Amino acid sequence: MNLSKYIRNIEDFPKVGVHFKDITPLLGDSDAMESCLQQLMALVGSQKIDKVAAIESRGFFFGTLLAQKLNAGFVPIRKPGKLPYTTLKEPYQLEYGMDALEIHEDAIKKGERILLHDDVLATGGTARAACNLIESLGGEVVQCNFLLELEFLNGIKKLRNHSVQSLLKY
Ligand code: AMP
Repeated sequence: MNLSKYIRNIEDFPKVGVHFKDITPLLGDSDAMESCLQQLMALVGSQKIDKVAAIESRGFFFGTLLAQKLNAGFVPIRKPGKLPYTTLKEPYQLEYGMDALEIHEDAIKKGERILLHDDVLATGGTARAACNLIESLGGEVVQCNFLLELEFLNGIKKLRNHSVQSLLKY
């Protein structure tokens, strides 16, 4: 199934100049959801995965489904102040200003094989910060896995030394 017709382009959201990729039409169609999950699983192939780590919040939709299909645990990587237990924090650069991501310090054990998932790879700063958190805990990022990649923003450059896979490229 071609999933691109389930991705809606919203101009100037959340601010002027951003071409936002809205995945809610895909989420609203069970056949498209099922096909998307199968296609994301095909990107992973037969690689052994201990845990799927996904980035708040749109990464959670398919992140948990992937974890179930892979018989793997699920690790939420969240915005600051959301996780209740002791956390590790990784700041990262936005287009204007800074943001940060957090992970529970006991979420990943040394040597665990991790699939990182998010909906969109744009400039790559978010995924890079998530990889840093996983690797700080001793996890091995087996693949960075996205629904779609905005190639013109060259986010893949920030994920050098990692396998990066996405279903759709713009
Ligand atoms: P970046 O750090 O620039 O790669 O941004 C990636 C994060 O921001 C992901 O968690 C996406 O959900 C979100 N994001 C960035 N740009 C877009 C976009 N054009 N459409 C939808 N989500 C986006």
